[in-house]
Amino acid sequence: MTLSYGRDLFLTPGPSVMPDSVLAAMMRPAPNIYGGPLVDVTASIVADLKTVAGTAHQATIYIANGHGIWEAAVANVFAPGDAALMLDTGNFAKGWADVARRLGVKVTLLPFGTDKAADPAVLQQALAADTGHHYKAVMCTQTDTSTSASNNIAAIRAAINAANHPALLMVDCVASLGCEHFEMDAWGVDVMVTACQKGLMCPPGLAYMFFNDKAARVARPQAERSPYWDWTARANPQRFYEYFFGTAPTHLLYAQRAALDLIMAEGMPAIWARHHVFASAIWAAVQAWGTGGPLRLNIADPAQRSRAVTTVMAPGADCNALRNWLSDKAGVTLGVPLGFDLPEYAQGANVFRIGHMGHLNPPMVLGGLATLQAGLTACGIPFGAGALDAASAIIAQAG
Ligand SMILES: *Cc1c(COP(=O)(O)O)cnc(C)c1O
Repeated sequence: MTLSYGRDLFLTPGPSVMPDSVLAAMMRPAPNIYGGPLVDVTASIVADLKTVAGTAHQATIYIANGHGIWEAAVANVFAPGDAALMLDTGNFAKGWADVARRLGVKVTLLPFGTDKAADPAVLQQALAADTGHHYKAVMCTQTDTSTSASNNIAAIRAAINAANHPALLMVDCVASLGCEHFEMDAWGVDVMVTACQKGLMCPPGLAYMFFNDKAARVARPQAERSPYWDWTARANPQRFYEYFFGTAPTHLLYAQRAALDLIMAEGMPAIWARHHVFASAIWAAVQAWGTGGPLRLNIADPAQRSRAVTTVMAPGADCNALRNWLSDKAGVTLGVPLGFDLPEYAQGANVFRIGHMGHLNPPMVLGGLATLQAGLTACGIPFGAGALDAASAIIAQAG
């Protein structure tokens, strides 16, 4: 029998839970795309996204997912033959590197394993060795959604500066914007990409790129860029359609406006603090479970853990069965493993991920953890006691 009635709970690292006001905002007939309210709505989205990103520089909207915005960033910044250094902290760094390679960029991966954030001292050494300044950019994720490592972006910028290297810093915040503390200008980020379906709480389909004057100056010559990805007119449209290089993504814009209304009302510091509390509650639960069974957090150092997603390792356990039980019987969807398709992880069956991004409150987090514990029992995966007490104690302290 299934107990899964009522609203299902999505604890995947994207797409994330959509607020009711976001869903309701899309229930409307097709709007005019040549004038009228959509024009002002779009301008207001750009303005608010800059606040969310912590930048006074340029912002662009693309009809794309995260993979699309990866390509957009590469197509604007690099010409074929340019070189880049990618800080490899998991599958998403590798994914962005692959896109850049296929567009002709010579990408060097600087590997940090699958259970750690990037070490800025190692980056500084690598840049000091690049005496010819071949690397046009250092690229990284803020949160790598596969390993749940969180990179210290300010420290990465400090390492680039300490090496006296002119490289741009390009950061993928698809998983982390609207979840984790991020300040583009204060932290010296030159290009940042993100998408709407994670911390920004919308259905997939919009992606955003932010860039500063330095990035615009050293970017690939405009005449050589593909017309769809070119950021020039998108950042400063003279006519409305230039925001999108074609038809506007009408209903997604209304959805994003509604989500930004929630974000602006809560405020960035409160959003970061709330995500920190929920992440801490989830870490405490996993650690308690781990005292009597195989579960453990993939990232040992709390300072290197994402506040948006948590990768859980469970050597010897069948996490596929656990995820299936949870989704089929109990209405909770966990994240699939990514990047652990190796014999030592039973082709990923010893790994699952918990997404905790965006529109979440204590009953969703605590209910999700309690249901996950029921799933452990149902699937015969042993665990230690006290997880729910530990998680609720963290929420009690914060509230
Ligand atoms: C989800 C994600 C992406 C890819 O987004 P898609 O919309 O699935 O293409 C890229 N980078 C990071 C860090 C992500 O979490």
